[in-house]
Amino acid sequence: MSNPRTRADWQAMADGLVLRTQAFIDGRYVDAADGRTFDCVSPIDGRVLGKIASGSEADIDRAVRAARRSFEAGGWSQARPVKRKKTLQALVALIERHADELALLESLDMGKPIDDARNVDIAATIRCFGWTAEALDKVYGEVAPTGHDELGLITREPLGVVGAIVPWNFPLLMAAWKLAPALAMGNSVVIKPSEKSPLSVLRLAELVAEAGIPDGVFNVVPGFGKEAGEPLALHMDVDGLVFTGSTAVGKRLLQCAGLSNMKRAYMECGGKSPNVVFADAPDLGKAAEAAASGIFYNQGEVCTAASRLLVERSIQEEFVARVVEAGRKMQPRHPLEPGAPMGAMVDEGQTRRVLDYIAKGQAEGARLALGGNRLQTVEGGCYVEPTVFDDVRPDHAISREEIFGPVLAVIPFDDEAQALRIANDTEYGLAAGVWTANLSRAHRMARGLRAGSVWVNYWDGGDMTAPFGGYKQSGNGRDKSLHAFDKYTEMKATWINLGG
Ligand code: NAD
Repeated sequence: MSNPRTRADWQAMADGLVLRTQAFIDGRYVDAADGRTFDCVSPIDGRVLGKIASGSEADIDRAVRAARRSFEAGGWSQARPVKRKKTLQALVALIERHADELALLESLDMGKPIDDARNVDIAATIRCFGWTAEALDKVYGEVAPTGHDELGLITREPLGVVGAIVPWNFPLLMAAWKLAPALAMGNSVVIKPSEKSPLSVLRLAELVAEAGIPDGVFNVVPGFGKEAGEPLALHMDVDGLVFTGSTAVGKRLLQCAGLSNMKRAYMECGGKSPNVVFADAPDLGKAAEAAASGIFYNQGEVCTAASRLLVERSIQEEFVARVVEAGRKMQPRHPLEPGAPMGAMVDEGQTRRVLDYIAKGQAEGARLALGGNRLQTVEGGCYVEPTVFDDVRPDHAISREEIFGPVLAVIPFDDEAQALRIANDTEYGLAAGVWTANLSRAHRMARGLRAGSVWVNYWDGGDMTAPFGGYKQSGNGRDKSLHAFDKYTEMKATWINLGG
């Protein structure tokens, strides 16, 4: 099906898909060493899409050995930067050519609306690889300021073998944030996609090979966290470990790095981001729509979800009514229906977790202003209504814990100092928003907020040109921009005696 436009078009394309279900090691698709598989279940209707190779320690070890061999062989690690750039640009062209298919895999696998998959996930993946490819041959070393009798060269070298462990909420895009800079700098990679969404990264492997990246440089081992993730994190021959996922797992992986070979370890973790709306916001209508889409986009399964809405008490009633109105229009629909504002939650477990939090919010005494229910559809599936709780206290579980679902906690405040105190009263520090027409207040708040990204008078700005990552327990290191290269390189100082 070329140029699918309707749900029927997408469904026809889905019916004809050939899925890649095996691990990809040393340039070939292979079964797991012990032959085990797990079911890949679509949250749209509970259908088993395929049986995926279930990787374990033996597969990780095989993949790491292939990665090490390819790294030492130098075909990629020692290639001229311009060669790596052209190869990655060839990969970009292939991703563009298969964009509809990759988007469809995301929708079927984790339930996000097809328009979002196509126009956000895959578009941003293309931009990520394209921008990084374009940048990679513009990275220079330095010459230290020395006397005439010596020369100090400061150069960057690839780490070697990089292990990447990624989540399910933006499966290909989160992988791209790791893969693009890792490959650009000449590393070999072993990636473990989430067991809930392995399809797109497994398909990417084929495109990587077609683009001309040598065998062994890119390996995919699907499987579960304990069985495949931990052996990767503990492997003595992995030089760098990069992760996106929950804070609890991020902490465990930092331990793994310490327990093994002190591999470089960078974690992008969870969030509970505050979105602070003052009464003098320039456009309360826009602010309300952004507050709704900031939490309901991607079913709320976004690390930077605007999950805590802090509203100045003088406008609380009016503003919450606007947010509820905007949220009401974002009811979930079948993910393959073009224009669906929300799709399905990733799986049954996540659906139950979100419904449990909704029950907890009610038990704690917050006021349910919108939604709160599971949505029943003819196909079954995992759908939760956009949900708004008003009059939430900062100590309620729904304003402290990351729900990772379409549940908004509205917390009123009386003045700027209190707003800042509540906003920062969290173990997380990924993102924050401020809405005000007062320039000084905007700057004061932006300085005071302990978060890696701060947005003033909008939500979720940014692209490849700026670093992304967290303060506090939202993680360390940064993805995107030239700063991402820091995670995938060692810095070497070479001193040459010119004195004779
Ligand atoms: P998760 O931590 O449960 O899983 C992430 C990955 O880690 C998966 O591949 C999983 O199999 C693996 N894993 C789980 N246990 C492991 C273990 N013991 N050892 C090794 N690997 C293990 O997270 P998730 O549910 O997939 O994703 C949601 C989380 O990701 C949320 O907390 C969200 O905020 C976070 N996230 C953060 C960012 C960011 O950039 N900061 C972006 C997207 C998602």
